[in-house]
Amino acid sequence: MLNILFAAPEDYWPVYEGLLRDALAAKGIKAKLGTDLPPEEVDYIVYAPNDRLKDFSPFVRCRAVLGLWAGVEKIVGNKTLTMPLARMVDPGLTEGMREWVTGHVMRLHLEMDRHIFGQDGVWRPEVPPLARHRPVTVLGMGALGAACGQALAALGFPVRGWSRSLRKVEGIETFAGPDGLAEALRDAAVVVLLLPDTPETTNVLNAETLALLRKGAFVVNPGRGPLIDDDAMLAALDSGQVGHATLDVFRTEPLPVGHPYWAHPSVTVTPHIASTTRPSSSVTVIAENVARTEAGLPLLHEVDRARGY
Ligand code: NDP
Repeated sequence: MLNILFAAPEDYWPVYEGLLRDALAAKGIKAKLGTDLPPEEVDYIVYAPNDRLKDFSPFVRCRAVLGLWAGVEKIVGNKTLTMPLARMVDPGLTEGMREWVTGHVMRLHLEMDRHIFGQDGVWRPEVPPLARHRPVTVLGMGALGAACGQALAALGFPVRGWSRSLRKVEGIETFAGPDGLAEALRDAAVVVLLLPDTPETTNVLNAETLALLRKGAFVVNPGRGPLIDDDAMLAALDSGQVGHATLDVFRTEPLPVGHPYWAHPSVTVTPHIASTTRPSSSVTVIAENVARTEAGLPLLHEVDRARGY
């Protein structure tokens, strides 16, 4: 019998308890699940950022911490977390992100706001360009970036992708590393950010890189707030270098009431809802990782602590 601690915000437990129990049972794993187990008896921790669990050192026999979130920036630097850490790659989360990204890119591409907000009796017959004339760059070619890039490519956008190591992704022209960034961004008409928040990715969109984009480019950020230098973004929006920014994530969340993004006419703020872990599909990933560890196999989606993601 394994002891599995569920350490997440309080409202997660009623949603996850039954699903997790069923997913573990389906893999033949006998487990005692709880939100308050004696630390020295815990074999696995299912984790999402919360205010209660900060010190992992009492969990002396814990074999892995299994994250429910894709982003691990809140936990990856925790020095007491010495056991293997897995992040969440969940088919439901990926599907949600693909829908959010394609929806927001299509809104900007088709210039829908002009008609949705412009019913003022003026007939404006401008026809937007075809997708094939609007190059998109996706920063981050991981689970989410690659899926979103491929969905946009399937709609006809020429898509470039950028990552740390060179990735081969069908339908996408890929670039890697600091040297590949300018090539990936030059003349992009849409940029989608799906990078993790690490010291290396901070302010990846700054005055210099924003200047590489096509005049009036659209920026869509469902990645993390620190990926964008906010002062440079506001200046680029004011000058028209960036035509519109759709931002889901921010340095401070919730975005403070007086923040200039709220009032800017060329910014759409969404409240960190681009996608989320879906309980019913994510429990299968958690159960699979418990089963793998018990069988002596490596974890799926293990975080590389040195890289920070
Ligand atoms: P992955 O770890 O699968 O992919 C990350 C990608 O970023 C990889 O391609 C990686 O390169 C690349 N990368 C990392 N560091 C660098 C760097 N220094 N230079 C260039 N490329 C880099 O993550 P996911 O796709 O699953 O998730 C991406 C992010 O999306 C999460 O970290 C999270 O912040 C955000 N997110 C936001 C949500 C929302 O609702 N707004 C929901 C879920 C996630 P390589 O391929 O070489 O490793």
